[in-house]
Amino acid sequence: MDKKQAITKHVKKRFKQRFDIECNRFVRRAIIKAIQNNECERISKTSCARSVYKAKVGDKQMNVVYDNRRKKIITCLYIRDEADQKECNHEWVEVSKDTAEAVGIYHAGNCYHVEICKNCGKDQAYDSSG
Ligand SMILES: [Zn+2]
Repeated sequence: MDKKQAITKHVKKRFKQRFDIECNRFVRRAIIKAIQNNECERISKTSCARSVYKAKVGDKQMNVVYDNRRKKIITCLYIRDEADQKECNHEWVEVSKDTAEAVGIYHAGNCYHVEICKNCGKDQAYDSSG
């Protein structure tokens, strides 16, 4: 499997896991087209290559991390909803260093864990080495 296929496999897994969406090539193409047509609000820019966009797939709102150079979706994430946080029974999902940094959450590396709540998008971090 080459790098491109590995990214696609990862993206499909994340869409299924986080939003229960079958992210086939038509879904991916539709999201990329919307990003390229400036139909998606740009949330943040972390490096020259990667940006985060707010996208809508079906009835679900999400943040999509997009690689401008490869023209590929890297991952999808929950949107942080401040209003819902008070009422939320948080369900934490651990995210990778790359994903954390793409949405602007500091990630210190190896023993450091960043989790995002799948319901409200709140994040928390802890160090497991101590
Ligand atoms: Zn929550």
